[in-house]
Amino acid sequence: MKQGEENQSDVICIGGGLGSLVAAALLAKEGLRVIVLEKNKQIGGALQSFGFMKQRFETAVHYIGSLAPGQTLHQLYHYLGILDQLSLKKMDESCFDRLVIAGETYRMAQGYKAFIDELCLSFPDERQNLERFIDEIKYVCEHFPLYNMRLGDGGSKMKVSYDGLRQKLDEITNNEKLKQVLTATNMLYAGDYEDTPFYLYALITNSYIESSWKFGEGSARLAKALQEVIEHAGGGVLRNQEVVRIKEENGMIHFAETKTGEQFRAKHFISGIHPQYTYAMLESQMVRPVTRRRIEATPNTISSFMVNLVLMPETIPYTNQNLYYHEREDVWYDYKNPQSEFDPSSIAAFFYEDKMNPGYASAVSLLSVMDISHMGKWASTLRTTSYPQSRGEGYQEEKELLAGRMIDKMDSVIPGLKDSIRGMDCCSPLSYRDYLNTPDGSLYGFRKNVNDQANTTYATHTKIPNLFLTGQNINMHGILGVSITAILTAAELCGLENLVNKIRAAS
Ligand SMILES: Cc1cc2nc3c(=O)[nH]c(=O)nc-3n(C[C@H](O)[C@H](O)[C@H](O)COP(=O)(O)OP(=O)(O)OC[C@H]3O[C@@H](n4cnc5c(N)ncnc54)[C@H](O)[C@@H]3O)c2cc1C
Repeated sequence: MKQGEENQSDVICIGGGLGSLVAAALLAKEGLRVIVLEKNKQIGGALQSFGFMKQRFETAVHYIGSLAPGQTLHQLYHYLGILDQLSLKKMDESCFDRLVIAGETYRMAQGYKAFIDELCLSFPDERQNLERFIDEIKYVCEHFPLYNMRLGDGGSKMKVSYDGLRQKLDEITNNEKLKQVLTATNMLYAGDYEDTPFYLYALITNSYIESSWKFGEGSARLAKALQEVIEHAGGGVLRNQEVVRIKEENGMIHFAETKTGEQFRAKHFISGIHPQYTYAMLESQMVRPVTRRRIEATPNTISSFMVNLVLMPETIPYTNQNLYYHEREDVWYDYKNPQSEFDPSSIAAFFYEDKMNPGYASAVSLLSVMDISHMGKWASTLRTTSYPQSRGEGYQEEKELLAGRMIDKMDSVIPGLKDSIRGMDCCSPLSYRDYLNTPDGSLYGFRKNVNDQANTTYATHTKIPNLFLTGQNINMHGILGVSITAILTAAELCGLENLVNKIRAAS
């Protein structure tokens, strides 16, 4: 790309996370010249991987669903021509998520029948209810046509959007233990048992039951592959370009301005960052103050604390499964009991296989939800690879203390863990806040609330005809949710029927 060319594109995407990258790649394939502006040194947002003691770690994404041939993400990534670059590895079919709840173990298997059969080993009297559970989640998924890469009645999802998670599970079974098991991976949506919409739960759960995968060489591969699609079509992904101003004039966005004062002009603009920040930097009278206040006031999902452990060789066996540990029978305890002291009752563990010693883990990441207030003392600091300042006194020690509590608990379910640690690195809510620019380091952005749909879901278009939104805050989070939303955003410029037909025809 020649100097200055980046200022004359068809589309500018703000933020280089999955949402922007997929929307940009789809538009690039339609012949549009798209420039993506990313504030960080590394693109991908939550798709970043990083190295520590020669071990690759994921900053966020540890597993994805719906990637077997014919399934939704497979179709999309096949159409984009990137599947071969993702090094996908299927997780253990008989158990992709192992759940340990108050000392008892349960297994989640891939495939609807296997899922039911496996849980029936623990709940032999619940087969009918489990079958009904699967029917219910399939029914919900059918009402979201795009999640099956189909065109359909846009209003059909309204028929299934108003059931709450708890309410629906109460209708399906009276077995309280089974309800805890079915929601034991609640970290995947980090909501509230009462308010989380059942559709959100159903779409996520269904995607992993359909098929569960890991990125064998890191999730950053997905970002890189999408970048190549954009560049191949003459566009670009520019790093270290933090947008600080979006200027509307005469009813249209004229430019996005970066921290260095450079102005990027285009016919269309897509913002893939949190709407709170999009609207905060949008200079326009067209957005009513009440809209701005509403977006400011919408609650976000809680943040998280991740402990990344490099292990000594041949100490911890590797299983191609995730582990969700719940100390108590109540898997919702951490969401219901805001703590003054960080002492998580629930911890997820994600394992990395040692390439030199197959069958053993070279590393493990432990993840818990955590409110940013636990890091309040350092809240005013900023630290990323581009701004490598220290957070100051006591921060490192505090992280080690909190990590120690998680490790102590996990030693009982990963025997020998404590004695096998060779090195440790932690990501606190401040890391997520600073790298991803999400309010208070929120895991998934806006917290979806079945009782407040109007304020927690957003359209891909805005009042300004050439400004569009994408990313996890708009419809749904996660690799599947964000990729589907990106189709909707791209469709604002090139038509949904056109896109879906092309994606389907390619597979
Ligand atoms: C800890 C964690 C674990 C997760 N695990 C999984 C998982 O296992 N499976 C799964 O499917 N999903 C998982 N998710 C969710 C999934 O990663 C996200 O929903 C998805 O990646 C969000 O993509 P996005 O494009 O909406 O936002 P982001 O990835 O947040 O991207 C936004 C981008 O915009 C950039 N940006 C922000 N402000 C500006 C600005 N002013 N100028 C320029 N650039 C800017 C940011 O730097 C970032 O790169 C996880 C998320 C987290 C946080």
